[in-house]
Amino acid sequence: MMKRWMITLTAAVAVTVSAATADAAVTPKTCTINVVNKGGVTKINNYVIANKVYGMSRDYNPGASSTMIRNYKAMAADAKKKGIILGIVGTQGAYGFRSYQAQQTLYNDYINMYGFNYASKISAKPGTSEHQAGVAMDIRDNSNYGTLSTAFEYTLASRYLKANAHRFGFIIRYLKGKESITGFMYEPWHIRYVGQKGATAMYKNHVTLEEYLGIAGKKKLNPGTYKVRGLICD
Ligand SMILES: [Zn+2]
Repeated sequence: MMKRWMITLTAAVAVTVSAATADAAVTPKTCTINVVNKGGVTKINNYVIANKVYGMSRDYNPGASSTMIRNYKAMAADAKKKGIILGIVGTQGAYGFRSYQAQQTLYNDYINMYGFNYASKISAKPGTSEHQAGVAMDIRDNSNYGTLSTAFEYTLASRYLKANAHRFGFIIRYLKGKESITGFMYEPWHIRYVGQKGATAMYKNHVTLEEYLGIAGKKKLNPGTYKVRGLICD
């Protein structure tokens, strides 16, 4: 169906307007980004940035995003129609949200269990977790197979997320082969809400949020406007 639609487009010479919807990967180009730091969190073109470069203040405590929850519910309902039951890891009803203090406890537990080096790969330092930003969730399969482990990718839930999460505005945040960019090991279970437009572009181009925004490998940018090589202006 997609193919036929694209041929029709080409025939109609309507290509210029619709180029952004084509399936082929696009190359980064010069985009303008706007970095804002307000209320203890950094946003770049309205995307909340929570990673090892951009931290959040201790008292940034937004709770889970209601937009994210709504889209998650729609996604879970869609998965259910296909016989796949998605679950969320963590406190029931929290939708992945963890306060700075909760992250601190978790992080310390991981350090005690695994030592600092491994702990810092699998768990974010307090103030750097997307869970504190209320826009990320760890998903598990109903079978509980591979929960919070890379074995999760063999579950139906993981396969469903890989193919469909973008339709509901989610990305698999920590991709395989992108560890040096995200600073995290591959986490097929951790999904981040970014909205449909960004999620679809990142999915189709197989890029991380950092690459999409043109900040991959860059030092922390102070608030302001910058020209970067990214995909966000496509
Ligand atoms: Zn997570």
